[in-house]
Amino acid sequence: MIKSLLIANRGEIACRVIRTARRMGIRTVAVYSDADADALHVRMADEAVHIGPSPVRESYLVGEKILAAAKASGAEAVHPGYGFLSENAAFAQAVIDAGLVWVGPRPASITAMGLKDAAKKLMQDAGVPTTPGYLGEDQAPERLKAEADAIGYPVLIKAVAGGGGKGMRRVDAANAFLDALQSCQREAASSFGDNRVLIEKYILSPRHIEVQVFGDTHGNIVHLFERDCSLQRRHQKVIEEAPAPGMDATTREAICAAAVQAARAVDYVGAGTIEFIADASDGLRADRIWFMEMNTRLQVEHPVTEAITGQDLVEWQLRVASGEPLPKRQDELAIDGWAMEARLYAEDPAKGFLPSVGRLDHCRFPQGGIRIDTGVEQGAEVSPFYDPMIAKLIVAASTREETIALLRQGMAGVAVWPVKTNAGFLHRTLAHSQFIAGNVTTGFIAEHQDELVPADRPGDLLLKQAARAIVAEQGTAAPLTGFRLNAVPHRMVHLDVDGETYVVEADRAPYASVQISAMGSNGALVTQDGMSVAAFVRRGTGAAGGVAGDGAVLAPMPGRIISVDVSEGDLVIAGQKLLTLEAMKMEHTLTAPFDGVVAELGATAGAQVQVEALLARIEQAER
Ligand code: ADP
Repeated sequence: MIKSLLIANRGEIACRVIRTARRMGIRTVAVYSDADADALHVRMADEAVHIGPSPVRESYLVGEKILAAAKASGAEAVHPGYGFLSENAAFAQAVIDAGLVWVGPRPASITAMGLKDAAKKLMQDAGVPTTPGYLGEDQAPERLKAEADAIGYPVLIKAVAGGGGKGMRRVDAANAFLDALQSCQREAASSFGDNRVLIEKYILSPRHIEVQVFGDTHGNIVHLFERDCSLQRRHQKVIEEAPAPGMDATTREAICAAAVQAARAVDYVGAGTIEFIADASDGLRADRIWFMEMNTRLQVEHPVTEAITGQDLVEWQLRVASGEPLPKRQDELAIDGWAMEARLYAEDPAKGFLPSVGRLDHCRFPQGGIRIDTGVEQGAEVSPFYDPMIAKLIVAASTREETIALLRQGMAGVAVWPVKTNAGFLHRTLAHSQFIAGNVTTGFIAEHQDELVPADRPGDLLLKQAARAIVAEQGTAAPLTGFRLNAVPHRMVHLDVDGETYVVEADRAPYASVQISAMGSNGALVTQDGMSVAAFVRRGTGAAGGVAGDGAVLAPMPGRIISVDVSEGDLVIAGQKLLTLEAMKMEHTLTAPFDGVVAELGATAGAQVQVEALLARIEQAER
C-alpha cells in the first residue's frame, strides 16, 4: 500500500480524498494557491505545499508545480481528484515518468477516450451501442449537412474535443444547419483548439444514465451499477441519484454489461464512468440507450454509488493504484436502498444563476443522517477563481420517496449568508411532483424554471418571523421588568433586508419550519425551505434620541438619567417627553416616537446608562 499521497486538487474533492487516505493510514499532502492558503483541505492534510497564484492556470493546472510539490514533500503517489489535470494524459504520463504512482487509469486509456469521435468509434468496434450519427473524417460543410439531413432533425452538432457542456449546438431544421455549424466550429476552435465536429441524432426525451466501472491491474473489471444524472442545468448536473428511477433488472443488466465491455476495450484501470443517453419517451429500454462518452476519473457524484453499494470508491482507487486486486468481485456487489446527491452552489437563481462570491459569514449545514461533502466552513471565502460549489448533500434511505423527503428536509436546513445559494431552488425541485414521480429528462429545469426559481424578495412569513426573533432577542437582553411579549397586541418593526426597508408586524409565535439564528442583538437570519433572509432592525437617529422603529427608545450616548417623566402603563402621545438624559454636560430630552402605551421603562432617575441602552418601549395604541 502506498504510504503517502499528494492530492492535486482543492475544495471538497481534496477533503474527500484526504478523509479516506487518513483512515487508511496514508500521509497526505495538499497543494494550494494564494487564495486557498487558509482553505479546509490545507488544514486537513498532514502537509501542504504552496504552488502559486490564485488563477488555476498559474497553480492547479501547472503539472510541473504539482510534480515539484510531490518531490519536495516526498509523496509517493498523486491523486488528481476531478477536473483540473484529472483527464490530462500527458500529466498522468509525467507523474509516472517521475517515478510516482498515478491514482488513475493508464494514460493510453485517457487518450483513447479523450476525443468524442474516436471514443465512439472504439465503442462501435467493441459492440457497444452508440447514439446514431455521423463520425466521418470528411468535415466539408456540405457533407456534414447531407449527413444531418440523412439522420433527420433535430440533430446535435458536437465538437469532437468538447467537454463540460461546451461546443454543442442543437439544430432543429435543415435551413439552420450551416449557421449553427459555423458557430459551433468557431467555439470549438477557440475553446479546444480543434474545430472538428461530429453529428448526432438529438434525443428528444433524453435521460442521462451513467455506469460506474472499476478495473484493476490484474485484468478484473466490475461495474457498480448506474446513476441517473438527468437533472441538469445547461448540461451541468444538479441532482444525481442511484439507482435510476424506472430501471428494470433486464435493462440494468444490459447497460452495465455494455459499460464493462466499454471499459475492457481500453484496458481500464481505476475508477471510470461510462455515460449513456437514453431516449425515455417510452420508459427506459435497453435498445434506446446509447454510449455518449467515458469519464476517466472519479466523478463528483460518486457518493451516491458509495451509498447504495456500501463501498468507499476512494479506498478502491488507492488499493488499485497500489497494485491490489479489486476489493470485491461482481457477484459480491449489490444495490441496497436509494441515494441522492444535490449540489449546493454559491449562485443566485433569481439573477440568472450568477455566481455569488464573498465571505461565508454564516454557513450552517443540516446535522445528522446526512452526508455533507464540503471544502468550506463558516468564515471561508467563496472566491471568483474556482467552481462555486459550496457542498454536496448526500442522503440514503430504503426508498426513493424517503430519500427525496430526507434530502428536502436537509436542504431546508441550509443557512448561508450573505452569499446567495441555490438551496431554495433545490428545495423546490425536490418538492416538484414531476421530479417526485421520476419524470425527469435533461430539459426539466428549463421547462419548469418559473416554478423552481424562488422569488427575489423575502416573503411576509419570513419577515414577520425575523421581526419576532429580534423582538424576543431584545426582550431577553434588555434589563426590564414586567416584559410580557405574548401580551403585546401590535409590534411594528422596521427591518432592513438587502438594502430595502420593510415595516412588518412581528409574529407572536415561532413557526415550526422557520429556523432562526441571531445576528447580534438587532438582527436575525431566518431560514425556511433553504431560503435565508438576514433582517436587521432599522435604527432611527432623530435629535430626540435613538428611537427604533419598533418603539424602543434607546440612549443616544452614554450618560445619566436625570428625570423620568412617565410610568409604565401611561398613555403618551407622539413627541411627549419621556425622560431626560444628561450626557457630555448637556441635557437631552427623549420623547415618544408615536401615540401609544409605555409598555416598559428601562431606566430610573439617577441611573448611569450605556449607549443604546433601552430606556423605554412604547407600544402603538390599539386601534
Ligand atoms: P460534455 O462532454 O460537454 O459533458 P456530453 O457529450 O457528455 O458533453 O453531453 C452533455 C449533455 O448534453 C448530456 O448529459 C445530455 O444532457 C446532452 N446531450 C448529449 N448528447 C445528446 C443528444 N444526442 N441528444 C440530446 N441531448 C444530448
